[in-house]
Amino acid sequence: MSLLGFVKTKIQKLIHQTIGSNHIDIIGIDLGTANTLICTKEKGIVLNEASVASYIVDGENSTNYLYGNEAKKLVGKTPYRVDTINPLEDGVIADNHVAEDMIRFFLQKTIGNNIIFNPVIIGAVPINATKVERKAIQECLERSNAKEAFLIYESLASAIGAGLPVHKPCGSMIIDIGGGTTEISIISLGGIVKSRAFKYGGRKIDQCILEYMQEKYNILIGETMAETIKKNIGCAYIKPDQTVKKVKIQARNLKNSSLQEVIISQEDMVQATAEFTNMLVKNVRDILDETPPELIHDIMTNKAIICGGGANIANLDYVLKTTANLSTKVPDHPELCLINGLYKIIQDYKKYDFVLFKQY
Ligand code: ADP
Ligand code: MG
Repeated sequence: MSLLGFVKTKIQKLIHQTIGSNHIDIIGIDLGTANTLICTKEKGIVLNEASVASYIVDGENSTNYLYGNEAKKLVGKTPYRVDTINPLEDGVIADNHVAEDMIRFFLQKTIGNNIIFNPVIIGAVPINATKVERKAIQECLERSNAKEAFLIYESLASAIGAGLPVHKPCGSMIIDIGGGTTEISIISLGGIVKSRAFKYGGRKIDQCILEYMQEKYNILIGETMAETIKKNIGCAYIKPDQTVKKVKIQARNLKNSSLQEVIISQEDMVQATAEFTNMLVKNVRDILDETPPELIHDIMTNKAIICGGGANIANLDYVLKTTANLSTKVPDHPELCLINGLYKIIQDYKKYDFVLFKQY
């Protein structure tokens, strides 16, 4: 141990003896393309913010970053000198510098800047991230004041969050619909047996809603409005006995440039999300085709889990049942499934060392 390390350990022991151990020693972080969530062993979920940064561009320089939900409020509303970006794309770091600053900001906001007690950080990474991308996340977490950083595949963390028996020789299926990517994984014995990811998630669905509104109603809406409509009445299929929900929106008519009120229904949502739904069904069918029969039996018995924010789109379970004969469950708050898994892990992370790794 270095002299510095030795002194630090001594100081930690002294502080423990005098003020007790009221500090954060381990945290979990879900670094999503759309949202970043942080949990601590002591307090549970302590942060749930949009993975967005905004900054003022001044010639060559950019300054005054805002991060998270405050920055997301500016999307589509910024004057020409202010820009907003998503430093994470498809669950991996797209802009190193900004991603690191954003993570540091979130950590500081939740656990403060404690130089004596650096926490162990467990971060989730997508299964389709390359080695280089995983290493970038590992290093980014290590540089963010971590004593030590571990990684876990997102689908394993979500499966633990959903209470699936990941450590047993029993097949489990997780379908995670995030902001940028949809990831489907088959898990058994703490490992990923098969996985498929396609770059189609909530954001592209918002884009499709926006384009649908232009084509069908000749109106122009922004991305934020498209996302709000999706969150209110998003729907993949209209069941025969269903009451069809509607919302009223105000937007600009593209033909005569006047403001107009339009009633949008869940039937519109089914049309606008059809491309995504078809792609989901195709990928689910393909992965089931490649899965060993014993695991298929387990999945049919235990049901697949649909999680991630996109799992809130109504009737996805019905679509998968009728098209692929796959029974699925959507947990309460599917967008929290992954962070709930990380929370379980940090209660006793040594017990879960079979799913944790470091990327060098
Ligand atoms: P990521 O892990 O990529 O950050 P999340 O799992 O947080 O993504 O999911 C974010 C996506 O889920 C966004 O595109 C968001 O619009 C979508 N979403 C959140 N809530 C709902 C909802 N109620 N209905 C439909 N989509 C939703
Ligand atoms: Mg996610």
